[in-house]
Order: sequence, then structure tokens, then C-alpha cells
Amino acid sequence: MKLIDSHCHIDSDRYDDDREDLIKRIGEELEFVVNIGYDMSSSIESLELAKKYDFIYATVGFHPADLKGYNEETERQLEQMSGDERVVAIGEIGLDYHWMESPKEVQKEFFRRQMEIARRVGKPVVIHSREAMADTLEILDEYMDVAGIIHSYPGSYESAKKVMDRYYFGINGVLTFKNNVKTKEVVSKLPLEKIIIETDSPYLTPVPFRGKRNEPGYVKYVAQEIADIKGVSLEEVVRVTNENTKRAYKIR
Ligand SMILES: [Zn+2]
Repeated sequence: MKLIDSHCHIDSDRYDDDREDLIKRIGEELEFVVNIGYDMSSSIESLELAKKYDFIYATVGFHPADLKGYNEETERQLEQMSGDERVVAIGEIGLDYHWMESPKEVQKEFFRRQMEIARRVGKPVVIHSREAMADTLEILDEYMDVAGIIHSYPGSYESAKKVMDRYYFGINGVLTFKNNVKTKEVVSKLPLEKIIIETDSPYLTPVPFRGKRNEPGYVKYVAQEIADIKGVSLEEVVRVTNENTKRAYKIR
């Protein structure tokens, strides 16, 4: 059974020299990947990739650390693109109090405006949340009719429980880092039915390639680590998390 990478950035310039080879490997090794937009140009590139390859889906959105290009015109363009059948979610959107590229109030406003787009077009969201879990959960609770994924889930099991009825939790290569006790504990407590696997390529490369460039095929190391922590077979992890990803993005 082939794996899925639910969150990657293959439009990144780190693949400029060998993107065609990378895409070929993805087509051979994986069932599909979801390429995530984080500003206008990456959202456009994401949709172009998804139109060209049937094993690539797209999301469109403005990341909280990349809000400079957000205005009424780009918002309209975003909403228009989000209606495309190859676009499976609005994202990545949310709050990032680590980089603080924009003040909290600005981040919250544009987060809400994109949650409203998701509501209007009836698609899920991909949430980015860094050092901002309480505020993130507060805003998610304003949109009880919107569902989706909290990617690279950074929170506790207790926080996860609050939105578990509507959200899945994205787990990636940081789970394989030896000293990462927190993520290992969250994975041990979360039901497998709520976990989805991602790489966030080209970032967050798992062991044994930590420090090098990441790529979607490395989801297998994340899946194996989840299997080890939960004491279930790799096949079981792949089967259940693949179903979760398809349900989260409403694919097929
Ligand atoms: Zn990402």
C-alpha cells in the first residue's frame, strides 16, 4: 500500500535543480501528495502543479508569517482559486507568534478572513499554529462549521481534545527526533483515527536524513515511528492514516 504526504512544498526553490526527478519519484512511490500554498505566488504554483499531475493536490492560502501580499484583490483571487476542483483546502493559515512577522491583531484578522473563505466555499482548512495554541483554538471555535487539519501539531493532547471532533492532527519528521518527548507523548495518546502523516518538505527532515533536504517519500520514516510508538503494524498505520487524509481533504 502506497503512502500519502498530506503536506509538502515542492514548489520550493530547494527543488529547482531536480524538481522533475522529484515529481517522478513521487508518482512512483506515493499515492498522492498535497502541495500547500503559503502566499499568492506559492498558491498559484501549487494549483499549476495540481492541474498538471493527477497525484498532486493543491491548497491555497496565506501563512501567518507571509501576510505582506494580503489585500482585497489577492483575497478575491484566493477565493476564486479555492473553488477549483484541484484545490482541496484553504491553507496554510493560522497564527505564528514565533516569527511575529505581523502583529497579533493583524494575524488574527487575516486568519478569520480566510476561515470565512473556507466557510463560503465549503472546503476544509490547513492550520499553522506556532506558540499560539490558545488563540488558535479560540478562533477555530468561532467556526464550528469548518473542519480540517492542524499541521505539524505542536500542542498537547489536552488541547487536541478540544477540537478533535472537527480536526485531524498532522505529524511529521520531528517525531523521529530522539529528544522530542512531547510529540512522542501526543502521538501515544491521540487515537490513530485522528492522525495524518506529512513531511512539510523541504523542512523538518526525519531521522535518518535529519539536517538534509526533506522529500515526500520520507513519510515512511514518520509512519514507522508512529507504528513503533503505538505498537501496531506499519500496514495498519498506513491504511488508517491514508483514510484519515482522504476524509480530511474530502478526496474521493
Ligand atoms: Zn508547511
